[in-house]
Amino acid sequence: MLKAHPHQKEQFTDPLVKGLKTSLHGVTETGAGSNLYDMKTNAVRKGSDWVLNGTKAYITNFFDADVAQVLAITNPGGGRQSFTYFMFDTKEYAGRGYEIGQLYQTMFGDGYTGEIHFKDMVLPESAVLGEVNGGFDIAVMSFNYTRMRRAGMCSGWSKYLIEKTLERVKTRVVGGEPLGAKQGIQWMIADMYLDWQQTRSLSLDVARAIDSPGPWWNLPRPSDEVRRICSLKLSNDESFYRVADRALQIHGGLGVLRDTDINKLFQIARNLRIPGGTDEVQRTTIAETLGLRFN
Ligand SMILES: Cc1cc2nc3c(=O)[nH]c(=O)nc-3n(C[C@H](O)[C@H](O)[C@H](O)COP(=O)(O)OP(=O)(O)OC[C@H]3O[C@@H](n4cnc5c(N)ncnc54)[C@H](O)[C@@H]3O)c2cc1C
Repeated sequence: MLKAHPHQKEQFTDPLVKGLKTSLHGVTETGAGSNLYDMKTNAVRKGSDWVLNGTKAYITNFFDADVAQVLAITNPGGGRQSFTYFMFDTKEYAGRGYEIGQLYQTMFGDGYTGEIHFKDMVLPESAVLGEVNGGFDIAVMSFNYTRMRRAGMCSGWSKYLIEKTLERVKTRVVGGEPLGAKQGIQWMIADMYLDWQQTRSLSLDVARAIDSPGPWWNLPRPSDEVRRICSLKLSNDESFYRVADRALQIHGGLGVLRDTDINKLFQIARNLRIPGGTDEVQRTTIAETLGLRFN
């Protein structure tokens, strides 16, 4: 959004910010997830227009988005300068090269994730978001934002799960005493608390460190800040997952029931370790920023 031109702000980002429209972010493909350089979706210049072809996969809100932000190859083999973002109104291009594809049945079964297709879709130059061949940096900016948002979200949900679990173990009686009187359960809850506190502290520390040199969206970020952002995402995702797993275990059969909040948060926690850069991608980037980059 920060890279939107004035006409895009007026048509797309202002209504998005006001909640009047919804959007999708099309980066991933079936053959290109963790590694953007495997991308096949491409846009080729034709006069003053661009012709977009390809398929994006695992796209959230694929079926209902008003506004699409799509990353495509425009300069093959150009390294970081290989990609351009395009922003357009999905309704305007429906039947004109833009198609909604199949729904993916995720473990939540929420009907939000699926495919979109572009078939010789002709876009004007004004659909370019930011600069031509400047899409990689916008993608990184967007991933940084997604990763930093994890802090409050995972912390809040972890706190909620700890409170719910405490409530449960004080009232659930097993063998004549509350479940919470059992040392094995107490230690699991202590570990949940520790996970929450450690990640919360790290998140606040990262937020402070990233705020101090200026706006976090300035790119390129120094490598120690990139490492902090990846550490934050990794720590939040994995600790929230451990908290959710223990909460479910302590709730026993109740935790397995599909429509309970414990179960829903467990599913969310498990999913978070994939989108926005997997756990492994965060670890790789952390290692690279520590000097272990060999290409
Ligand atoms: C519910 C959901 C919603 C999503 N929403 C969107 C969306 O709105 N827009 C969008 O563009 N994408 C979206 N995604 C896609 C998501 O970003 C990708 O699934 C994710 O980046 C991983 O890519 P992949 O699935 O291709 O896995 P792969 O890249 O095939 O990775 C598979 C496994 O290999 C590991 N791996 C990959 N490379 C390495 C390496 N170099 N070293 C070690 N391990 C490695 C990964 O960590 C992972 O564990 C969504 C995914 C899900 C599940």
